[in-house]
Amino acid sequence: MTPRRPLFVANWKMNGLHADGIARASALAGHTAGGDCGGDIVVCPPATLLFALRAVFAGSAIALGGQDCHAAAEGAHTGDVSGPMLVDAGCTHVIVGHSERRAGHGEGNEEVAAKAAAAHAAGLAAIVCVGESAAERNAGRALAVIGRQVEGSLPASATPDNTAIAYEPVWAIGTGRTPGPADIEAAHAQVRVGWERRFSGGGEALRVLYGGSVTARNAGGMLAVPGVDGVLVGGASLSADAFWQICQAHR
Ligand code: PEP
Repeated sequence: MTPRRPLFVANWKMNGLHADGIARASALAGHTAGGDCGGDIVVCPPATLLFALRAVFAGSAIALGGQDCHAAAEGAHTGDVSGPMLVDAGCTHVIVGHSERRAGHGEGNEEVAAKAAAAHAAGLAAIVCVGESAAERNAGRALAVIGRQVEGSLPASATPDNTAIAYEPVWAIGTGRTPGPADIEAAHAQVRVGWERRFSGGGEALRVLYGGSVTARNAGGMLAVPGVDGVLVGGASLSADAFWQICQAHR
């Protein structure tokens, strides 16, 4: 099997005004101009910065992504952004089903799958997030929850080319706590089981990312875990230097 190329995703969340967003993006683009990290890099800034960052990343190895998209292409959905709008702003990727949207906006698997389908219809690759809560892990239900979320959050249009899955345990996001290597390996294997159940095979090329308190210090360990094909980074991606170190940590 051809080795899967690592994927590094920066999720800036709701952080960054115009000037500091441009400065951070320019610093990262400068790093990539100096050398290839051997993986694919996607930066997902707030929607207000997309057009500006498209110009900064033009000609660089960095792809642009949205942090969410609506299931509809257009219409009366105040405050939302659609897949075609993200493409118009220069995006090639979009995160869907992040736990902050599942919890904060009540998004369930069905809605996440509809959003991923809308992303695919617009020509975007979807980065679909799944992961258990602390209560679910403590109750011994982590793997069952992960499997169910994967099966339920993937639309029929998903292929390993247009989809990556990020395993992000909710209790590890922004907390400084991380699962051990054995738990990450088991969770990633379970993601693949979910894919196999959903599509009856064909998932060999699927990239499964780990997310949750990844830093420049722990990224190498995460990326060495069997079945980890990259990372989705929140807090540490707000430093161009730290994120670039993470992008190089698989070597
Ligand atoms: C995230 O936003 O998906 C995330 C993993 O955040 P952090 O790296 O800050 O835990």
